[in-house]
Amino acid sequence: ETKIFHRDTWAEVNLDIIFENITSMKKSLKKGVSLFAVVKANAYGHGDYEVAKTALDAGADFLSVAFLDEALALRKKGILAPILVLGASRPESAALAAEHGISVTVFDEAWLEKAKDLLKPGQVLQIHVKVDSGMGRIGIRDKGQLMKVESLLKREACFNFQGIFTHFATADEMKTDLYEKQLAFFKGMLSELTGKPEYVHAANSAASLRFTDSEWNAIRMGISMYGLSPSLEMKPILPFPLKQAISLKTEMVAVKQLAKGESVSYGATYTAEGDEWIGTLPIGYADGWIRKLQGQEVLVDGKRVPIVGRICMDQCMIKLPGPYPAGTVVTLIGNDGDESITVDEIAAKLETINYEVTCMIGARVPRIYM
Ligand code: PLP
Repeated sequence: ETKIFHRDTWAEVNLDIIFENITSMKKSLKKGVSLFAVVKANAYGHGDYEVAKTALDAGADFLSVAFLDEALALRKKGILAPILVLGASRPESAALAAEHGISVTVFDEAWLEKAKDLLKPGQVLQIHVKVDSGMGRIGIRDKGQLMKVESLLKREACFNFQGIFTHFATADEMKTDLYEKQLAFFKGMLSELTGKPEYVHAANSAASLRFTDSEWNAIRMGISMYGLSPSLEMKPILPFPLKQAISLKTEMVAVKQLAKGESVSYGATYTAEGDEWIGTLPIGYADGWIRKLQGQEVLVDGKRVPIVGRICMDQCMIKLPGPYPAGTVVTLIGNDGDESITVDEIAAKLETINYEVTCMIGARVPRIYM
C-alpha cells in the first residue's frame, strides 16, 4: 500500500452521506425549487471540489462560495456548473468573473457603473442582487436603490439580472419575529421589481428545514448538507435525519508509562497520580485542534479517554487505560465501536457552533474521501 500522505492524522469525509443529506433535502422541497449547494470555506472544511461534485451528482442546480477566489479555484479543478459568489467582489473583477461564467452578488449601483466600463465587449456578467432585510451585513436596504439597480441591470446588455436574495439572521431560533419581519421586508422589496429574475432565494438550511410556504424558488443549503443541525434548538424538530459526514482520526505515534509525579506537556499542567499510560497524538492547535480542547475525550478502542496536559502546536497527549501499541487509531470526531464523538460535542466544549469546528480543521490535515 502506498500512502499519499506521510502523516497519520486525517479527516474522513463520507461523500455518500453528503449525497444522502442532499437527497433528503430535495425530497422535502416543493417541486421546482432549485438547490444551491454552499461550498464556501473549502465546503465547511470538507473539501470544496469533492463536495461540489457530489452535490451536483445529487441534483444541486448551483454552487455558492463566499469569494471569487473560491469560485475560480473550483473552475480550475474542472467544475463547470454555475457558481454564485455570495460575498462582495470588486468591480475590477467583473471581467474575470464573466470570463469564467461566475455569478456575482451586487448591492450597489456605483459598483455596476464601474463594472460596466471594465467588462470586455460582448461579455455578460450574471448578477444576483442582495437585499439586506435585517441581517445588517451586505445588501440594498431601500426600495429606491433597488429600483435604480434594477433599471440599470435591464438597460445594460452587459448584465443579466439572474437572481435576487436575502439572508436570515435567526431562522434557526424558535422565536420567529425577526424571521417574519425579514421575510415581509424581502417580499416588499420583491414587489417593487418590474420583473422577477430567474432565481429568488432566501432560505439557508434552517429556513429550508422549517418553512415551506414562501415565495422563493431556490434555497441555499450549507450546514445541513454536511449533516449538521443549524442550531441545537432545531435538533428535535428536524424534518428528516441529518447524518454527520466528517470524522477526524489519528494514530498514536508514541506510548509510554509515566510514574507518579511525572508531568505532561508545556506548563506541566498535568501530573500522573500513579503509574499511567500516556499516548502521543500527531495533531495540535495548528491543525485546528485548539488548546481549549484540553480535557476533551477521544476514542481509543471504543472507549473514551481524556486529553491530558496542554495541546501543543502539532501534538497532544492522552491518558490510556493501559498499554496500547503505537499505531493504534484514535478517533477525535466520529464513531468507534458503540461510542461516538459528534461535531456538536466538540462545539459545546469550545462554546461555539458546529460550523466553526469543521471550518477550523486545518489545511494541513489531509481529507480522505469515502
Ligand atoms: N447563504 C449565505 C449568504 C450564507 O452566508 C450562508 C452561510 O453562512 C448560507 C447561505 C448557508 O447557510 P447554512 O450553512 O446555515 O445552511
